[in-house]
Amino acid sequence: MPEPRLVVLTAPSGAGKTSIARRVLQAFPNMRFSVSATTRPPRPGERNGVDYYFLSEEAFRELIRDGQFVEYEEVYPGRLYGTLRSEIDAASRAHPVLLDIDVKGALRIKERFGEEALAIFIKPPSLEVLADRLRTRGTENAAALAERLERARMELTYEDRFDAVVVNDDLERATAETLNLVRSFLSRP
Ligand code: 5GP
Repeated sequence: MPEPRLVVLTAPSGAGKTSIARRVLQAFPNMRFSVSATTRPPRPGERNGVDYYFLSEEAFRELIRDGQFVEYEEVYPGRLYGTLRSEIDAASRAHPVLLDIDVKGALRIKERFGEEALAIFIKPPSLEVLADRLRTRGTENAAALAERLERARMELTYEDRFDAVVVNDDLERATAETLNLVRSFLSRP
């Protein structure tokens, strides 16, 4: 059995994680993205099986009962998100897997995979910058925005438990730093 290699990116919503994740996947063509399951509805442009597996709560709960999740979390009230065992089963050094999951999910993956997982926390320069980015993105209404900021505040208290923290003050710089971290993790014996 080859040892899996998992790269976990975590960040408060709006911290720029999705852009960085995309760049990591471009830079490491053998890396696959772990498509999570979720009960939240798709946003415009999101595709089932590509961005997420969009499931009903009933279907999600059935997968929980079947033991199909490596980790799952109620990230927002009534909104379940989880990493499917089948998405990371094939992870190896030659074919690492990238996960884009929340803080608690990331820490659970670390507990389980230890040194075989690299957990990176992408941090916004400040909560004010984060709020501005979320408003500009415009994917959330006022209530959802407040909920995301509240959650970001909580998530920032966990940063010490990650292998590395990257401040996204500038997307190019933060991307370069992330790529270096991933490169050295993947080249480790
Ligand atoms: P969004 O709704 O903005 O796509 O994602 C909301 C949050 O859920 C993000 O922090 C995202 O990383 C997290 N998330 C996505 N998939 C998973 C997953 O499989 N497990 C966990 N624990 N969190 C996830």
